Amino acid sequence: MRIDLIEHASLSIPRKERFTIARGSSDVAENVFAMVHSGNRLGLGCGAPSDVTRETVATVTAALHGLARGLRGFEFERPGHVADRMDAVLPANPAAKAAIDMAVHDLLAQEAAKPLYAYLGGSRDRMPTDMTIGIMGTADAVERAVRWVREGFRSLKVKVGLDPKGDVERVRAIRAVVGGEVELRVDGNQGYTWSQALAFARSARDLGIVLFEQPVPATDFEGMRALAEASPIPIMADEMVLTPDDAKKLRWANAARAVNLKLMKHGGIVRASEVNAICESAGYPAMVGCMGEPQLSIAAGLHFALAQKNVRWLDLDSHFNLAADPSSGLRFEEGELVAPAGPGLGIDVEWPS
Ligand SMILES: [Mg+2]
Repeated sequence: MRIDLIEHASLSIPRKERFTIARGSSDVAENVFAMVHSGNRLGLGCGAPSDVTRETVATVTAALHGLARGLRGFEFERPGHVADRMDAVLPANPAAKAAIDMAVHDLLAQEAAKPLYAYLGGSRDRMPTDMTIGIMGTADAVERAVRWVREGFRSLKVKVGLDPKGDVERVRAIRAVVGGEVELRVDGNQGYTWSQALAFARSARDLGIVLFEQPVPATDFEGMRALAEASPIPIMADEMVLTPDDAKKLRWANAARAVNLKLMKHGGIVRASEVNAICESAGYPAMVGCMGEPQLSIAAGLHFALAQKNVRWLDLDSHFNLAADPSSGLRFEEGELVAPAGPGLGIDVEWPS
């Protein structure tokens, strides 16, 4: 297969409601769509810049410009060839590379006439995803929790990390209203100090929370290691794991019990698979999560997750909060995200006029 041409276009998609986490708020999801042409086939991808990878729409656009030039006419058989070529053309820029990587996967799976998860070796076509409740007042959070459970979600992820006491009260109120069957996860997004995180985990130990994501800053390996040992809630690493080397460091430091994988952090499916292989060998089960993304890249994350035995949880929910998603094709049934049955990603994109 040969890359004939790569085009890209950025799009600001308003959210249905403001999304607040420990590190800030956002009303708009910024995305850069990539179109990779090969003969008469078109592969689609999307990059979502964030402060986690230190990317912006401007850096992703500039990176895609350089990658498009560096990949023009490039012949490849496997997606890894393109991933290696991209790393040779320019370092870092994982969200930009993720856009091209998923488009290349879309092309190869189309050529194989298989849905991407099957091309990657998977056999399941659906998994339950959680729904995230941002930082907000307790009454508002409880209202969201009731609504999401009514819509079919069987697990909820609650954002915490600003105020350990208030956070415990909010999660306690959510637990009281949703009952014991709904799975609860929390995400500190680096907002706590080590002692705040431990205080939160100890006061919330009776709430049946299954995961406590990145409670302390990504640079705090010591804090993460101490928490992984002392916290009654299992600690998951997120913002501190971007590259395969980061995953190795996490393993050597014993600094978590599980890892949140995101295509935007790692640079696409090829590199996410490498990070996942290290996690799996370390005995860290994985979640597949997302940034503020439309259905197009959410589908890529889903296909990837479906093909990996080590992926135990899905946090692929950002598209539910977009007011106008140009991409479509995913279904949500009884709490599960269902991959399209058609070849490739199976996602259509209709550009806003
Ligand atoms: Mg997280």
